[in-house]
Amino acid sequence: MTKAISPRSRKVRILATLGPASSTPEMIERLFDAGADAFRINMSHGDQQSKVAVFAAIRGLEKKLGRPSTILADLQGPKLRVGKFAEGKVMLQAGHEFVLDRDSTPGDATRVELPHREIFEAAHPDARLLLDDGKLVLRVIGVQPDRLTTVIEVGGSLSNNKGLNVPDMVLPLAALTEKDRSDLAFAVEMGADWIALSFVQRPEDLMEARRLIGGRAALLAKIEKPSAIARLEEIVEQCDGVMVARGDLGVELPPQTVPPLQKRIVETARRMGRPVIVATQMLESMIESPSPTRAEVSDVATAVYDGADAIMLSAESAAGKWPIESVAMMNSIADAVERDPTHGDRVHFTITRPDPTTADALSEAAKNIAATVSASAILCFTTSGSTARRIARERPSVPIMVLTPKVETARRLGLLWGVHAVHTRDVDSFEEMVAKSKRMAMRHHIAAAGDRLILCAGVPFRTPGSTNVLHVVTLVGDELKTYKGDQDA
Ligand code: PGA
Ligand code: MN
Repeated sequence: MTKAISPRSRKVRILATLGPASSTPEMIERLFDAGADAFRINMSHGDQQSKVAVFAAIRGLEKKLGRPSTILADLQGPKLRVGKFAEGKVMLQAGHEFVLDRDSTPGDATRVELPHREIFEAAHPDARLLLDDGKLVLRVIGVQPDRLTTVIEVGGSLSNNKGLNVPDMVLPLAALTEKDRSDLAFAVEMGADWIALSFVQRPEDLMEARRLIGGRAALLAKIEKPSAIARLEEIVEQCDGVMVARGDLGVELPPQTVPPLQKRIVETARRMGRPVIVATQMLESMIESPSPTRAEVSDVATAVYDGADAIMLSAESAAGKWPIESVAMMNSIADAVERDPTHGDRVHFTITRPDPTTADALSEAAKNIAATVSASAILCFTTSGSTARRIARERPSVPIMVLTPKVETARRLGLLWGVHAVHTRDVDSFEEMVAKSKRMAMRHHIAAAGDRLILCAGVPFRTPGSTNVLHVVTLVGDELKTYKGDQDA
């Protein structure tokens, strides 16, 4: 790794989905320059082969910039879809009947294939079938083993393989489809740092994924089903991070329930020390237009005021006309909110009491001392990243510089609030830790002569889970001169 880059002053992280509009090395670098901190590869679109170059491009940028990069691979999950139509699409008229069956013959305005046996088993009269993100609504009036007769309540155009939501049925679906298993193996092989699981319904859904990942990536649960809301705390407990997946959540549940749920999911994740991403339609109109609506700007701002770890762009950066502008807009909104003097108080509206552990006691103290003495940063040495997660959970007013000998840890931390992770050699003594912290803070432009730093570490060194020391140091001018410029790993 070569040159050191200044940390972003912004605390909230920007996660940009890559897609046809943004997958070249040049575009990925421009997205990074505009403010993207982490990249999402959506396994729902395109084949595995087409993703190989995208993984390589992100890691290529990591090498070029000398900064760890973060890749989240998002598995499609048991997404339900209708079959195909002879003409590619049909117009469904309200009031007419429409049949879903198990016949793979291309459909027309009266019927189409529904390639999911489980729906025929779980369907009951009066249940709703929501098509294309809830734009069309069908209501079941007749159930036969291979045939559902419905009445079209809300009509519209329906094209091949559009998505389907069935909020009124509980389906006995496995959390990981065959495609997901294959995509998971591929993504882990390609070095993804995070694996996201879609349509999680129960905590057990995460266990199988955890087993298949085998510690090679962190696991993120997308909260987009009413059943996941019902067992939210248990699900958060079982994963390493969560996403407020507002797209499907707002189809499965009435849209007005999404804002209170967003608050609840963000708060639960923060309390439990898991990073939380707010996702979907954040700057939706920027898929087509170079400027967002005022309501979208306000929505992004709300997620930042709520203290979310990250905010996400989907089609805006993956397939829209203005990917760079979307990231730049998100960046400016986040900057403006974080500059608002009330931001800190609003973020701390969510109270995250320390657990009765040494690590939490020190993390809370680090935040308080940093504010009291106007320190420039909190620094911590960590192997697994757990100390960094507990410090980030405190939402301190200063950047958290994390020094880790494991590049995997540095990469995974890229989704965390306020964290500037550096992959570097471990230290063996207290003196070495102090000296290295000072040098690295200067090297990364986190502090200058005269500034104070709060150091968190575990003694004896190289013992995971031993965080037990908090040390306050002041950088003096002389040290700047003796700085020998040691390297990131
Ligand atoms: P998706 O997930 O974009 O993969 O559907 C996010 C959401 O549903 O909001
Ligand atoms: Mn979804």
